[in-house]
Amino acid sequence: MISVAIDGPAGVGKSTAAKAVAKKLGYIYVDTGALYRAIGLFASERNIGTTDAAGISAKLHEIRIKLDYLDGVQRVFLNGRDVSDDIRKPEMGMAASNVSAIPKVRDFLLDLQRDMAAGQNVVMDGRDIGTVVLPGAKVKIYLTASAEARAKRRFEEHVAKGEQVSYNDILTEIKQRDYNDMNRSIAPLKQAGDAVLIDNTGWTCKETADQIMKIIEEKTV
Ligand code: C5P
Repeated sequence: MISVAIDGPAGVGKSTAAKAVAKKLGYIYVDTGALYRAIGLFASERNIGTTDAAGISAKLHEIRIKLDYLDGVQRVFLNGRDVSDDIRKPEMGMAASNVSAIPKVRDFLLDLQRDMAAGQNVVMDGRDIGTVVLPGAKVKIYLTASAEARAKRRFEEHVAKGEQVSYNDILTEIKQRDYNDMNRSIAPLKQAGDAVLIDNTGWTCKETADQIMKIIEEKTV
């Protein structure tokens, strides 16, 4: 089985590039951020604080998360309910970042992610795919860009969906999430020693996807 691991900070365009590349290769695209978002949503709906490690850890046995694919598009099910749209609400990014720092949450999601990659070729994106989830991945990419470029992309995505958001709020949130994700004690966001670094500041989505394809072709011949 071939695994392509793409890690990097929020808003860097991992999912857009990973989706395009997976489609071209005929691989399954796995968006692991969606799993953390689903746990963030669960906590918010149960009125459990997203930083309440003990409260969330005690409820993990009540959580069933499943990824399914409809016409090649990933859908996320939380206890049987399709939450694919709810987890994209702007506040779910920070909720996911908070719950993702809880060791029991990361353990809980680890096997699910590894099982996805065990039976099929995958392009998996996240924060710790190359370092922790799939350390043996054939291809590892670490995608980064300036915080301003990433905030601009996220801002434009929300505006395109008709959502009222402020660029400055998004920039502040992105910087806070970068800080949380890079400084947590367990599985922090960092480049794997054997990952190829791409800084896509100022690049189009297509340029990013093309560059990733080139690296995959080089590594899989
Ligand atoms: O990629 P996305 O923005 O959907 O991820 C939401 C949050 O989930 C991230 O800010 C990060 O804290 C967490 N996450 C993680 N490990 C992953 C994927 C996401 O900690 N593999």
